[in-house]
Amino acid sequence: MNRHLFPHSNNIGFAACILGLLLTLFAAGGAEARVRVVTTTEDIAAIAREVGGNFIEAESITRGMQDAHFIEAKPSYMLKVNRADLLIHQGLDLEIGWLPLLVTGARNPQVREGQPGSLDLSSAIVPIEVPTGEVGRHMGDVHPGGNPHYPLDPANGPLMAEAIAKRLGELDPENRAAYDANRQRFANRIAQKIAEWESRLAAFPDPVVVTYHTTWSYFLRRFGIESIGSVEPLPGVPPSPAHLGHLAETMKRRKVKIILQANYFEKRHSELLGRQTGAQVLALPVSVGGAPGAEDYFSLFDLLVDRLAKALSQP
Ligand SMILES: [Zn+2]
Repeated sequence: MNRHLFPHSNNIGFAACILGLLLTLFAAGGAEARVRVVTTTEDIAAIAREVGGNFIEAESITRGMQDAHFIEAKPSYMLKVNRADLLIHQGLDLEIGWLPLLVTGARNPQVREGQPGSLDLSSAIVPIEVPTGEVGRHMGDVHPGGNPHYPLDPANGPLMAEAIAKRLGELDPENRAAYDANRQRFANRIAQKIAEWESRLAAFPDPVVVTYHTTWSYFLRRFGIESIGSVEPLPGVPPSPAHLGHLAETMKRRKVKIILQANYFEKRHSELLGRQTGAQVLALPVSVGGAPGAEDYFSLFDLLVDRLAKALSQP
């Protein structure tokens, strides 16, 4: 207690009371003032934190070790969406099985599609693997708008950050300059890191891998790695023995040393293929929070590039 402000002992009780009241007001004011951001994936939450700094609180519905295609629409998630000022999702139908249920159940008109509190980040990037012609079930669990796993190209990070900064600036104009400065700093750092990651992987000429699912497409394209086939014959469809046999042949011919898969998929088929061909199964995180050491957007790629470089350098 400051004796100069409150010199008389009989005032101390009163002062403590006022202080308590002020703290309550500040705490409430502080919490109120922060923009509450709810995201569908930890990648988006990580980028939102880079952009929003202390002016926001960001929380993801899915964890990084979960397959965001398939989660249960739990009431606790609806509560999060109910309290959100801004709901950011990855789009391209990644969350189609559960997000519409959450938004309906949340009873928060602000975050309904088309409202300022709803942001589909896929509008900020250029999707790949957009199917041409008619999309049907015979193509597997294919996404009509293109491959939704775009945060795995680190060059998409700044585009995502830009869209988030713009929307935060609209919802919270007072801090617009800060959001923009943070976004710029994030973009600069990513550009620097991409050069570093690219030069590390450039040590391996013409790397080839086999993947499990189309999770890796953006990542492989960024770093010039060729995938000569996937364990799933079609997205979301488990392999037949004939498919695996055929893939094993191709792998031996092309001397493929790596089978790359998200760590949340079952490893049974990849391990069988590995035993048949001598290739190594690399089960890696595909999102921030997907493994220890992948705590933010930068360390996720540090980890991926490091593990891949180590596997490629094996004789
Ligand atoms: Zn997918």
